Amino acid sequence: MTTSSALFDPAQVDLLAGVHGEGGPKSLFIDGEWKAARNGETRTIVCPADGSVVAEVSEASEDDTVDAIKAARRTFDEGVWSSVPAIERGKLLVRVADAIRDNKDLFAAAESADTGKRYEESQADMDDIAGAFDYFGTLASHHAGRVVDPADENIRSRVDAEPVGVCGLITPWNYPLLQVSWKVAPAIAAGNSFVLKQAELTPHTAMMLMAVLRDAGLPAGVANLITGAGANCGNPLSQHPDVDMVSFTGGLETGKIIAKNAAETVKRTALELGGKNPNVIFADCDFDTAVDNALNGAFFHSGQVCSAGSRIIVEESLHDKFVDALVERTNRIKIGGPKDSKAETGPLISEGQRDKVAKYVDRAREQGAKILTGGRAATAEDTHGQHGTGETDLGAGIYYLPTIIDGATQDMECVHDEAFGPVVTVETFTTEEDAIRIGNDTIYGLAGAVWTNDAGKAERVVRGLRHGTIWINDFHPYLPQAEWGGYKQSGNGRELGPTGLEEYQEHKHVFRNLTPTKWDQFGLQED
Ligand code: NAD
Repeated sequence: MTTSSALFDPAQVDLLAGVHGEGGPKSLFIDGEWKAARNGETRTIVCPADGSVVAEVSEASEDDTVDAIKAARRTFDEGVWSSVPAIERGKLLVRVADAIRDNKDLFAAAESADTGKRYEESQADMDDIAGAFDYFGTLASHHAGRVVDPADENIRSRVDAEPVGVCGLITPWNYPLLQVSWKVAPAIAAGNSFVLKQAELTPHTAMMLMAVLRDAGLPAGVANLITGAGANCGNPLSQHPDVDMVSFTGGLETGKIIAKNAAETVKRTALELGGKNPNVIFADCDFDTAVDNALNGAFFHSGQVCSAGSRIIVEESLHDKFVDALVERTNRIKIGGPKDSKAETGPLISEGQRDKVAKYVDRAREQGAKILTGGRAATAEDTHGQHGTGETDLGAGIYYLPTIIDGATQDMECVHDEAFGPVVTVETFTTEEDAIRIGNDTIYGLAGAVWTNDAGKAERVVRGLRHGTIWINDFHPYLPQAEWGGYKQSGNGRELGPTGLEEYQEHKHVFRNLTPTKWDQFGLQED
């Protein structure tokens, strides 16, 4: 098997020149320079596919974070980027998109080394990331404000779109650079300065992006990167008075902490949180396609996807046939490392994440659900078993077997809590109303799907489901042109689409009177 060091060696990467050398890593990008953490602390990044060491990176503290915030504040207040015409800002984003495409294999190798995900998936992510920069690059100059009809010929009225200021961007490890791109691209398209806190387990592609932004001509201090743990770096970003906005993607509990922190200085917040996404399957669906997509919805990237189809809600009359087909295919899923030629899905990100998934499945068992297949961590013995490829030592990495939980009901924790792993529950319904009710019976509202060949029925279910994205006869695709985000406790605000740019803009109404007149109301009375 190819280890992470054979896949990606950060010390040999031109984009990271200056990071590695004597005196330990300098992986914080502050004010246009690579810096070590002030207290000299480092963190070892390990590839979860095989346990190999990827690199040492700097572990930032609160002090480093404040340094980065100050650099961002200074550059914003000096106007070195915000005063650049929007059309020029857009062109820089397009150059960034091109550079990511030019370095696609290198970026993909870095992403796979940090996350353990299949190399082909990382490559596809890079295409999407370049697409996000292209989209916001094009949108930048077309979304600079609007003229308002004041219904009065003596008045001119317009709304100027201006940057919000200094943005704190906090992102998760499951799609490291993709989640970063959904924030960084609109933030700089709108003329902001930012401090990015990438997830501490997966820093390399964010580091490489900093070099690409610098090389594309972004002034020093506009883009700043902190690599370090949540509370140390995340708290200052959500609390410091010099930060105007915090945009966060991650778990619900962290989102609540950030929202509370940000309230102290009334920062703008954008929160992209978890999901418990219903995949509603009617008996009149295209059976084979629905089964195939249900597997994709549940097990793609080992279920570590916020929009994973983690709840299959199938019409009762189809249940047995559907579940039999699902189990039969699941039993043949192959798991392995990034360059494993036979692997269909990969590892979980960390031991902690695998423990969380195991506890979730154990609790489902205790509450009376049936584990039809999987239900345990993979071990070295599985390397040559039904899920092994023979190429990847499943005992060396962090793997969990694809798991189907049948007989789940709404009173069980497994249908409400996010597992964020390769686990799917199956519930049944009998009527359209029932399907909608079960689909909505969650605190989350991120995404869902409906499978039927009856267009009217599909549209009725779409109208009923309170989730931010609904797929009809599909699962997972998204478009940079279309808004992404959650209803209910899946968050607030939207990424992507025009709204994804507006999140990073203030809107200033400019009202101009062409024929100024007096009011003659105040202070004119004789004593
Ligand atoms: P997490 O909340 O543990 O961490 C996310 C980020 O927040 C990391 O960078 C982490 O270091 C940071 N953080 C942790 N504590 C913090 C604090 N006190 N203050 C500020 N920042 C802090 O989430 P995770 O485990 O990295 O990611 C998985 C979660 O992300 C899942 O719940 C998933 O659904 C969600 N997610 C949502 C979307 C979406 O688009 N809605 C996309 C991807 C992931």
